[in-house]
Amino acid sequence: MARKVLTLAEVRDSALRNVSFEAIAAAKTVAEGGEVVTVLAGESVGSLAQELIAFGADRVITVEHANLKAYTSDGYSQALMAVLDAESPEGIIFGHTALGKDLSPKLASKLNSGLISDATEVEEVGGNLVFTRPIYSGKAFEKKIVTDGVIFATIRPNNIASLQKDDARSGDVSSLEVDVKDLRTIIKEVVRKATDGVDLSEAKVVVAGGRGVKSTDGFEPLKELADVLGAAVGASRGACDADYCDYSMQIGQTGKVVTPDLYIACGISGAIQHLAGMSNSKVIVAINKDPEANIFKVADYGIVGDLFEVVPLLTAEFKKLLV
Ligand code: FAD
Repeated sequence: MARKVLTLAEVRDSALRNVSFEAIAAAKTVAEGGEVVTVLAGESVGSLAQELIAFGADRVITVEHANLKAYTSDGYSQALMAVLDAESPEGIIFGHTALGKDLSPKLASKLNSGLISDATEVEEVGGNLVFTRPIYSGKAFEKKIVTDGVIFATIRPNNIASLQKDDARSGDVSSLEVDVKDLRTIIKEVVRKATDGVDLSEAKVVVAGGRGVKSTDGFEPLKELADVLGAAVGASRGACDADYCDYSMQIGQTGKVVTPDLYIACGISGAIQHLAGMSNSKVIVAINKDPEANIFKVADYGIVGDLFEVVPLLTAEFKKLLV
């Protein structure tokens, strides 16, 4: 059944986030030959529309307003509800990002629809669209189908591959005037924490440290390895609680969920709450001096040893290959 499916593009630092393209790819599956319409909301964002078309959007609707410069629940729900009223899509796909997690339940309740959150896969099986999502902190997966109403889902970043970019693709770009007003939250200024590395949630490679790094300085060898690999540096809550690093680096049940191609866990025991944030990584390498550490149960490659010896050796070898 061909459907019209709406996606929401996410913009950070004037660039589209990868999850915007992944949502379009998921929407293509849901559309089953129908139309994929992407909403591009913000202030002066129209120039990004063609990139969304190159990644598979059939149509882009821009909603530009000074009150959409920074994300607020109020502002974006007004903008999105105006588009939803005008378009009445049969499917909606957002990223399972901070923005998507905040906005999607609000819109689902306004639409009186259900919501499948944090899907890692969507496929057509025997005439049904089946969404897969992790449950019990990633220990099991459940399969869900929507039997009635709008198919509304959020997708976990880095799981559904975006389509091949085709700069020659063409599509319609239109704008919708929405008077975004009466915001209960006004963002005066966004002060971003200074990070010198790659964005953790979108990184293809993550080097993470746990309590085994023993100090803030203990992260230095991990940062050197990450530099060589073009990786982001993450951490267990153990390392954050011990004040070795900032909580923005925390991976796990109460931190960020990451699904990189390669996850290198250094001095992390592998508590269930940590595994919840990284066990879907494509390849997991664990370095731990305790051969019984739980992290080895999910690791594809395990190195039993002292991270302060192993990590510099890895860095030196990767340097030979990559630098
Ligand atoms: P530890 O468990 O202390 O492990 C340190 C490891 O380092 C050990 O395995 C040790 O063998 C190894 N090691 C030590 N020295 C070296 C060395 N020189 N070389 C190599 N290996 C070495 N945790 C998270 O990570 N993320 C979460 O989001 C999260 N949420 C939680 C939510 C709740 C409600 C609760 C109750 C807990 C949560 N936790 C979370 C905490 C979690 O239970 C663990 O306490 C935490 O993950 C442990 O961190 P760790 O592995 O770094 O430390």
